[in-house]
Amino acid sequence: MDVCGASRESVGVSMKLTKYVVGTVFNDRIIEKRYLRTKERALKLVPDNQRDNYYTKYLGEEEIDLYCECCDKELSAGDTYIKEDEHTRYCEDCYEEDTITFYTVGGEPVGNDNEIVSYDSMWLEH
Ligand SMILES: [Zn+2]
Repeated sequence: MDVCGASRESVGVSMKLTKYVVGTVFNDRIIEKRYLRTKERALKLVPDNQRDNYYTKYLGEEEIDLYCECCDKELSAGDTYIKEDEHTRYCEDCYEEDTITFYTVGGEPVGNDNEIVSYDSMWLEH
C-alpha cells in the first residue's frame, strides 16, 4: 500500500527500539513472533507449551526502527502514533481516527482496534 505516493529512500539515523523476541515454533517453523520490551518478560513466556513439535523459543534481540510508514518521520517512544504491526507505524500527522475503532492513513483504512495499537505519552510500547 502506497498511501503517500512517495517511496522511502532517505537514510538517516532513526530512533531504534530494542525488543526481545519470542517465537512460537510449530513443526520447525516459526509461526508467531512476539516482541517484548525486556528480556525478562520474553523469557517468562518460554516455559509455556513445550512439546516436540510445538514450543516457544527465545529468539534474541531485534532492533526495531521507529518511523512513520507514510511520511518517514522518526518516532520516539513517547510520541503519539499507531502501530499496525511490529514494523508498521503511523505518526499522528498521518493517521486519522475515523471512529473510536477505525484509523485511516491518506483516506485508506489501516485497520481497526483489533489490529491497531495506539500509543501516546501515557502508553509506551511493551
Ligand atoms: Zn507520518
